[in-house]
Amino acid sequence: MAAITRLVKRASPSLFVSSTAARRLFCSESSSHAPPQDDFHAPQRKDPKDRNVQWVFLGCPGVGKGTYASRLCNLIGVPHIATGDLVRHELASKGPLSSQLSEIVNQGKLVSDEIIISLLSKRLADGEAKGESGFILDGFPRTISQAEILERVIDIDLVVNLKLQEEALLAKCLGRRICNQCGGNFNVASIDVKGENGSPGMSMAPLLPPAHCMSKLITRSDDTEAVVKERLRIYNEMSKPVEEFYRSRGKLLEFNLPGGIPESWPKLLQALNLDDYEEKRSAAA
Ligand code: ADP
Repeated sequence: MAAITRLVKRASPSLFVSSTAARRLFCSESSSHAPPQDDFHAPQRKDPKDRNVQWVFLGCPGVGKGTYASRLCNLIGVPHIATGDLVRHELASKGPLSSQLSEIVNQGKLVSDEIIISLLSKRLADGEAKGESGFILDGFPRTISQAEILERVIDIDLVVNLKLQEEALLAKCLGRRICNQCGGNFNVASIDVKGENGSPGMSMAPLLPPAHCMSKLITRSDDTEAVVKERLRIYNEMSKPVEEFYRSRGKLLEFNLPGGIPESWPKLLQALNLDDYEEKRSAAA
């Protein structure tokens, strides 16, 4: 723990987190080859029946992890924790890490495990202090070492692996737009992938913003063609093995997106046994 804590303290005093949740993540990394030392540092695993869901969303850049994870979070009532958002927030804060992060993100590379874990630890600690329970993690873990660290401290119940034909991924990233006022996510791409060699074709209508957002749309600085291609390459090299990590533990749910939100959302709810849940919630509303 000491080595990582020192490293994080040096990088940014504001990133040093002292809460239990945060310490659990730091401790687990430094003690990877040692047996648990004492109860204070040991993860406090709760009985799954006594807590909310602890899910992970995996998938290539552009697949729609953020869209579906945040919809599910609204439905189930758990926080949506996206490490990409944590990184962008840190970048926008112009804190001590921002110039280093901007270079990494704009090259499509992965941020170091130390930085990403410190950002996530802080987010978990803040949530714990506010009494949050459960989460859907989006964009973490993205490497085997991150998955191993997470496994040592938190019981993940389910990992949803969203899949879409590669052709559609690039178009979706390039079509992505964000309203710089309300933060809404939209997509101007109209996707039409032909079916080939037995795999079905797929079309996806654009997700256009309302008129009042139209003049405020911005594009993420890492959504350029060259950077998206690099992010896809890195996903295949570094993050694809994470799928197997969870598959071998019987936690992976593969979900092929059949199209845009109107086609995919009801099917995803079915796959998660939540279709009933949505009906009951809207009936109760
Ligand atoms: P993507 O559309 O590529 O899935 P994200 O919004 O999840 O994008 O992440 C944006 C960037 O933030 C990534 O390209 C990477 O530089 C950084 N990042 C996010 N999560 C992680 C992580 N778990 N490990 C390392 N870097 C990360």
